[in-house]
Amino acid sequence: MTGPPPLLLRDVEVRGRRTDVRVRGARVHEVAPGLRASPGEQVVDGAGGALLPGLHDHHVHLAAVAAAAASVPLGPPAVRSPGEFDRAVGRAHAAAPDGVWLRGVGQDDAASGPVDRHRLDVFAPGRPVRVQHASGHRWVLSSTALDLLGLRGGDGVEAGEDGQPTGRVFGRDAALRGLPLMPPPDLAAVGAALLRLGVTSVSDLTATSSQADLDLLGAAVREGLLPQAVYVSGGPALARHRVDGVEPGPVKLVLADHDLPGLDDLREDVRTARAAGRTVAVHTVTRASATLALAALAAEGAVPGDRIEHGSMLPSELMAWVASLGLTVVTQPSFVGLRGDTYLDDVDPDDVPHLYPVRSLLAAGVRTAFSSDAPFGDLDPWRGIRDAVARRTPSGRVVGAGECLDAGTALAAYLGAPDDPGGPPRRVRPGVPADLCLLTVPLRDALSEPSAEYVRLTLVRGRVYGAG
Ligand SMILES: [Zn+2]
Repeated sequence: MTGPPPLLLRDVEVRGRRTDVRVRGARVHEVAPGLRASPGEQVVDGAGGALLPGLHDHHVHLAAVAAAAASVPLGPPAVRSPGEFDRAVGRAHAAAPDGVWLRGVGQDDAASGPVDRHRLDVFAPGRPVRVQHASGHRWVLSSTALDLLGLRGGDGVEAGEDGQPTGRVFGRDAALRGLPLMPPPDLAAVGAALLRLGVTSVSDLTATSSQADLDLLGAAVREGLLPQAVYVSGGPALARHRVDGVEPGPVKLVLADHDLPGLDDLREDVRTARAAGRTVAVHTVTRASATLALAALAAEGAVPGDRIEHGSMLPSELMAWVASLGLTVVTQPSFVGLRGDTYLDDVDPDDVPHLYPVRSLLAAGVRTAFSSDAPFGDLDPWRGIRDAVARRTPSGRVVGAGECLDAGTALAAYLGAPDDPGGPPRRVRPGVPADLCLLTVPLRDALSEPSAEYVRLTLVRGRVYGAG
């Protein structure tokens, strides 16, 4: 690949001032007002629009985003009631050729009501169907799907009162991996979608134990399907696995609440990461799993860069522990906007004030960063900023009014360095990589009504993507 052509961005707003920015190769070369165009330089008139460092999504699942695009949406907003769920399954069944697997995503009991294999069998008779819960941590399989996979019982296969499988399956992703998708997943479409959102780099936090999953991402970067810089985690089994084209992120440790590991096992995983020279990112969404995660990190010794993912339930005593261990929290503001009603209905009333804390984490001095967790949260960071400001559920209730942020602080939570989430926002200045996001309007206007519609151009390593 040849290097990007020389570029002059004229009349852009950088940290509140109108200026010009010259890009040479993959880096910002000059930031000063009144720069003259050199021969052969492409010139873009920014018309006073803000030029920001490109956004970083600190926690996403790229392959799952691609797979979700090839799946039937079975949760809000596409499905808001049990009837809509049944009709959506029936329509997808009618439209698909015989024998083809259907994959549904986003299932949410609050919208669809409980789902089991019998319900899938009624609306997609004889068809292999797999439906992923909105959390990503549970599947419901139709009877044909259970038969094809040979999942008649055992670990993670829920049994009903009759002793037969209900179709609900936990923690058996290895059995489900590699099943066919119609149409096949398209990582190039994910890369393009991220560019339209101003996202120039991402951290894939999938806890996979399959080398092929990580290698797929490396290949997508090397082939240019994903123009972004990509950091990949993988689970402890792959702590030493290195992939050309991507950077290693923290080792991902998942604490599944239906099957919490013992403290010794978790400590062992932390040691595995350490032995490979890596930090850890521990998934926790409940008080119990947060306590376990913090106990393990306290016992093994936390190092800078160790992370808590989600931190959905952090009462003040746990927050103080997070702060004293020097941990970073990477969380997802869109969860409140997408599923806040379910949280408010399910969580003990005493715990409601501790749901998805952000402002109090910042006040406690905890480095706190934002991410999408897409496809389980919304890929759009601008929606994340709106949700961090409003914290309003779909029905209009506010989750923890005291945790609302101003839009500028919310934006900054996407601007830390990839290896320092929640650290100081990157800046547009000479010498930095030209990973940039040009808006159509000044920052103040964009923050008054945050929206991806203001993203005009995205530059990754000096290469321009967008309408111009
Ligand atoms: Zn995740």
